Amino acid sequence: MPLHAPAATTAASARELIAAQGGRVTRTRVAVIEALQRSAHPLSHDELGAVLDGADIAHDRVTLYRALDWLVEQGIAQRIAGGERAWRFEIRRGDDHRHAHFHCERCGQIVCLEDVPTASAPHLPAGFELERAELVLHGACADCGRAAAKGSAR
Ligand SMILES: [Zn+2]
Ligand SMILES: [Zn+2]
Repeated sequence: MPLHAPAATTAASARELIAAQGGRVTRTRVAVIEALQRSAHPLSHDELGAVLDGADIAHDRVTLYRALDWLVEQGIAQRIAGGERAWRFEIRRGDDHRHAHFHCERCGQIVCLEDVPTASAPHLPAGFELERAELVLHGACADCGRAAAKGSAR
């Protein structure tokens, strides 16, 4: 499986990550970072909201958006574009660890493809500056692909 193991073993604690950026350590930020570190795949806004609910952390959509925006601005987390304009979030593990993602068009899951590097910087026209490059492959994940194959075999 291309899923990465939870980054928690090598990652700094949520509080350390926040403090290193000079940020305020809030329950929401800590809970979001910990959820992302525990998860083997990038999480959507709704999934993170459910985690906060489960941990009994009062929040609303705006609080969560602000926390995520801050984490992305600080380079602690990164956004991955899924389908239907739904962003997924994962902990960023440095510029030397870029990998592609797979978006399942059927179940909407985004999976990390640790072994597939994103394309190296392309040759850009004069005056263009690259800030970030991402590679998202779209299709059916193993579960959905198998389900479809089973269905058509009948
Ligand atoms: Zn799927
Ligand atoms: Zn990833």
